[in-house]
Amino acid sequence: MIATTGKGFDIILVSGEPYVDHPLSAVGVIARVLDAKGYKIGVVGRPDWKKDADFLKLGPPRLFFGITSGSMDSLLVNYTALKRERSTDPNAPYDSGIPDRAVLVYANIIKRLYPDSVIVLGGIEASLRRFAHYDYWENKVRRSLLLDSRADILVYGPGEKQALEIARRLDRSEKLLGVPGTCVLDRELPAGFIDLPSYEQVSGDPAKFCEAQRLFSNRRRLAQAHAGRLVLQYPMPEYTTADLDWIYGLPFSRNVPPDYPEFAMARFSVITHRGCIGDCSFCSLTLHQGDRIVSRSEDSILEEIRRLTRHPEFKGYIDDLGGPTANMYGMDCQSPCPEGRCLPCKKLDRSHGRLIRLMKRARAIPGVKKIFVRSGIRYDLAMESREYLRELCAHHVSGLLKIAPEHVSPQVLRLMNKGRDRSGEFRRLFKELSRGRRQELKGYYMVAHPGTSEKEARELARHLRTLEQAGERPVEGVQIFTPTPLTRSTCMYHTGIDPVTGEAVYVPRTFTEKKAQKRLLVETGISYGRRGRTKDSVLA
Ligand code: SF4
Repeated sequence: MIATTGKGFDIILVSGEPYVDHPLSAVGVIARVLDAKGYKIGVVGRPDWKKDADFLKLGPPRLFFGITSGSMDSLLVNYTALKRERSTDPNAPYDSGIPDRAVLVYANIIKRLYPDSVIVLGGIEASLRRFAHYDYWENKVRRSLLLDSRADILVYGPGEKQALEIARRLDRSEKLLGVPGTCVLDRELPAGFIDLPSYEQVSGDPAKFCEAQRLFSNRRRLAQAHAGRLVLQYPMPEYTTADLDWIYGLPFSRNVPPDYPEFAMARFSVITHRGCIGDCSFCSLTLHQGDRIVSRSEDSILEEIRRLTRHPEFKGYIDDLGGPTANMYGMDCQSPCPEGRCLPCKKLDRSHGRLIRLMKRARAIPGVKKIFVRSGIRYDLAMESREYLRELCAHHVSGLLKIAPEHVSPQVLRLMNKGRDRSGEFRRLFKELSRGRRQELKGYYMVAHPGTSEKEARELARHLRTLEQAGERPVEGVQIFTPTPLTRSTCMYHTGIDPVTGEAVYVPRTFTEKKAQKRLLVETGISYGRRGRTKDSVLA
């Protein structure tokens, strides 16, 4: 049973987002998984943290409170890349309804109201703040969230297996030490753990910060001292195709609450896999979901689409068939290699064969009119299979295909770990394969990433202007780099050092310089997005 009212729950999940019984909602998935194993689950979605009422209405749970900010870090939700509050931004006012540092705020309220309850932290905010980390919003290194929240255990990664194991142990009054995919506090350094530079060391010494960065991995037993207490990380549990088939085969209702309309666009989306082998330096996915692809079986995905066709509100359109990067479906490899090596590896199956077959079979299901691929694709990988691109362009583009070249400067792309710019080749291929169809290609670009001085920013602006002058509208969006916790790019931003090579890196840090880099693009006359936004809205 999953409920948002009542009493007598085994587990209560508290999320910064409204509760949606949907496979794209992390708290929705955890609730379904625990419910399927017989636990009685209560969910408090987007509580009013200024009052206690929402935290009191379900009462204390028998086993634990699970706390998450939702699918994003609350500071990213509440502030722009230039640290402007979104709620007061005249160009894009937005009141998220969640507090800054939502996980901390919720945990402290629950600790005050229910001092004896077990508190479990999870979701992306907890995952990426599990060790000492640079916090862009305070411009300082903060301690692990475990210390500040006084929680009992922190789950990193997607979390289904951890939640089940924690529930099982608490049900039997067993200790929470050693659960795969979690972090806990302890006083002794157990055998076999890598001792990371301590919080005190990484706070004061850029070289130590870089050393810790190089050691972060979901596959290692790691320990980090914070004033005599140790944050211990147990390696992430392996997920298999069978695990994902079971999870996504659960009976999600897909009902979207009226106070969460932004979810409606993705209501009939289907997740095909987890993980990403791209290993972009600015992306936190690797240290959250993992750097290997785990794909669902074709049968499980097709069965889910058949179920959707029987949904009373399904109109024949699948909103998205994808994952973190849509065209990595089927690129699973179990070899025990070091992290971040798959994309250039000769053993990687780049044929897109499994995905092509899946797309063809999915389109043939009676009741399906169109299947969109709205998740991003890794365009340089997609170019390895002309057949995949032909399928994509012919059947799955909703008028606009978005890619993320991010930049054109070889130096910036190297620091981003993006490989060389091949977007021009891709553009030509896309045009050829889209002939006779009303669809266009646009890109996302990033300014102010470490390594970007005015020279590189001008290089990007010149490149885009040349495309515009040739009649293209190449830009879907330009974002200013935001240093999110635990990524390599954030390490560069904070220390001014590339943690991989040890080289010094130029970092645009000031408000003025970041804004000037974005302005350079705007002032060259580049139009943005479908409607071609104004200069003012772009500079927000
Ligand atoms: S063999 Fe290649 S593709 Fe497979 S895990 Fe290792 S690096 Fe990745």
